Amino acid sequence: MITLNDIGKIVLDIGDKCTHCGRDTAPGSSLWVDRIPAHVDSSSCEDWLQGWEIIQYVDGYLCRECLEDD
Ligand SMILES: [Zn+2]
Repeated sequence: MITLNDIGKIVLDIGDKCTHCGRDTAPGSSLWVDRIPAHVDSSSCEDWLQGWEIIQYVDGYLCRECLEDD
């Protein structure tokens, strides 16, 4: 779902997906444990998100594996 935030930037809510790898972190999936909410620049999603150039921010989660990579 795409929304505008309070300063008029385009924000895409990707729900339970990881902002860095695009994998699902929903409850019951193997990546649910230790996930953290993430609000990131859309360029963080360029590897997996089609159309990332036309949005500014992405709301989702950061999975445990991507956390360990950073
Ligand atoms: Zn991830």
